[in-house]
Amino acid sequence: MKRRDFLKKTGAAALCAAGASAVAAPNVWAKGKSYRWNMVTSWPPNLPVLQTGAERFARRVNEMSRERLQIKVFAGGELVPPMGVFDAVSGGTVEMGSSAAYYWAGKVPAAQWFTSVPFGLNAQGMNSWLGSGGLALWEEIYAPFNLVPRPMGNTGMQMGGWFRREMHSLDDFKGLKMRIPGLGGKVVAKAGGTVVLLPGAEIFTSLERGMIDATEWVGPMHDLRMGFYKAAPYYYYPGWHEPGSCLELLINKKAYQSLPKDLQMLVDCAAMENNIWTLNEFEAGNGAALAELVEKHQVKLRCFPDAVLQKLKVLAEESLEEEAAANPDSARVHAAFKKFKKEMGSWGIVSEKPYYEML
Ligand code: CA
Repeated sequence: MKRRDFLKKTGAAALCAAGASAVAAPNVWAKGKSYRWNMVTSWPPNLPVLQTGAERFARRVNEMSRERLQIKVFAGGELVPPMGVFDAVSGGTVEMGSSAAYYWAGKVPAAQWFTSVPFGLNAQGMNSWLGSGGLALWEEIYAPFNLVPRPMGNTGMQMGGWFRREMHSLDDFKGLKMRIPGLGGKVVAKAGGTVVLLPGAEIFTSLERGMIDATEWVGPMHDLRMGFYKAAPYYYYPGWHEPGSCLELLINKKAYQSLPKDLQMLVDCAAMENNIWTLNEFEAGNGAALAELVEKHQVKLRCFPDAVLQKLKVLAEESLEEEAAANPDSARVHAAFKKFKKEMGSWGIVSEKPYYEML
């Protein structure tokens, strides 16, 4: 109906009523309905950056919403197991979760691309992709599971891992037992390694007892805390397998849709804020932690030989194509990721690479 016709047909009384409700609306909104939500995470209690980050997010939402939306956070195992987060949020047992999409590779293979891709994008690249169509695709992939995803943290460039022996050539991966999840694990398997999946709490003991020969985790700040330097002397870089791992906020879709628009936006903004803070914290802590590992704990810092990295890159490309061929959603996400990476092109090589080389 055109506005002119509307005015003619509804008359002055209707206009007064409309005006009155427009004035009254902000009061109704400010009081609003309040919501009590639970959030589960895949992280151990008090784990810096990841668990403390989820708690900061909840605190910020509680405060910014003036307690209209109150979120209570439970660490991994407190309410559901660390790897039970996806099912708990999807099934509506809880409203929210903090985790990493590549943990769900078994049920949603395409989810792996939203954490990190071997030789893929760094933190800036991941954030850029998600802001340029990647998040819309992620929402599509999660929709059948009654989930809304939001990026809520990035580890930045990870380290290549801890090894009990030196890695001189690709052949050294043959028979190597390594704890390495996600698409990176597929590449190590292709190189002849045996991939072992272990929860964080079991890695140190397995490495110390020689049940595994190598492990990756995150970067110096977290790795120092995990104590891996006591069990394996060689610390390799770069983290070719996880060049910028994105962490996820999972929201039950029905719960999200039940929120008024302003609270939905508040959740989105707090997640985005946490996305940046997480990266800041890792970047701020990694340099000092690396120095402590090398200077105080005499860790042998090593760069993978160029020839090894070049061969791993070839294997990574083969692995990604195979994964994409095995699942239509993975094929779609892989195609979008590759297209974006190509569009980003060599800007980083022109901008940041020479800058770092100059420092
Ligand atoms: Ca990792």
